Amino acid sequence: MDPIRIAVVGMGKIARDQHLPAIAGNGAFSLAATVSPHDPGMAGIPHHRGLEALLEEGPAVDAVALCTPPQVRYDLAAMALKRGIHVFLEKPPGATLAEVAALSARADKVGATLFAGWHSRFAAGVAPARAWLAERTVERVSVVWREDVRVWHPGQAWIWEPGGLGVFDPGINALSIITHILPRPFFLKSATLVLPENRAAPIAADLEFRDTAGAPISMDLDWRQTGPQSWDIIVETDAGTLKLSNGGAVLSIPSGTEHSEDHEYPGLYGRFATLIRGGRSDVDTDPLRLVADAFLRGRREITEPFHD
Ligand code: NAP
Repeated sequence: MDPIRIAVVGMGKIARDQHLPAIAGNGAFSLAATVSPHDPGMAGIPHHRGLEALLEEGPAVDAVALCTPPQVRYDLAAMALKRGIHVFLEKPPGATLAEVAALSARADKVGATLFAGWHSRFAAGVAPARAWLAERTVERVSVVWREDVRVWHPGQAWIWEPGGLGVFDPGINALSIITHILPRPFFLKSATLVLPENRAAPIAADLEFRDTAGAPISMDLDWRQTGPQSWDIIVETDAGTLKLSNGGAVLSIPSGTEHSEDHEYPGLYGRFATLIRGGRSDVDTDPLRLVADAFLRGRREITEPFHD
């Protein structure tokens, strides 16, 4: 079977750190081109400054991985789908729910694959956590996602703009895990979003959810954390406590702790190849919908200005 010729669009941090190595390590794909307005590209790989130029001038591609900020992703995805090209959307899949729904309908119409990739769902502890919880009754959940924005997002202006999500850019990773592992649906009861007075997106947020059986789920997001960072999910059940730490990489359950190698992006590309070969799409917007609900229902508090 011929490899899927893929172009990486948006040669920023995640493209270079994760997408390019994952593509290089997966024989189902061959890197055909890169696209980025300012990045110089890579030696020996055709490079364009915009997707339109690639689609007009070639080389031909079967798929694109859109690694841009979310605010520009809809137009790029629509342009690719119009030509029947398969699309991998980095998380979050779009800047609004309606635009992702429109892309999903378009992909179905043209028979192309649309994949909304949630990388944290491929963290090593997530699948076994989901399997363990499927047999248990969840009583309480606590999520603490505290990191230093200056370390992880230095100089990323888009992340503070409307649609950039602010602290929900990492927070949506936690939501992508808990929407996947918790056996029952849950919904927002209240939220406080803390915005620096010079920014359009929150630097911190406190959220309270409840599942359909009444179990409380709290979420503490903060981008002002210096020192040790926290990406932890604790689920109390009728059979003891489950803890996912390091963003889902380490799973602790009453019978012991499992550490495994990181395979998030290899997992994502394995899934993308399977979807393309099977003629299917996978566009789950549940994590984005919960973030949208936080912006819809949350109380705003203004805090001191933030400077990079
Ligand atoms: P980034 O470093 O700012 O990179 C984004 C890149 O997109 C920029 O380098 C820019 O290229 C390019 N771009 C902007 N507009 C474009 C357009 N119209 N066409 C083509 N390229 C365009 O951001 P990032 O951290 O990689 O994040 C990108 C996405 O990945 C976000 O949705 C983020 O949530 C997600 N993500 C990030 C991480 C992470 O650890 N950073 C982890 C997982 C997921 P030029 O530099 O050439 O202008």
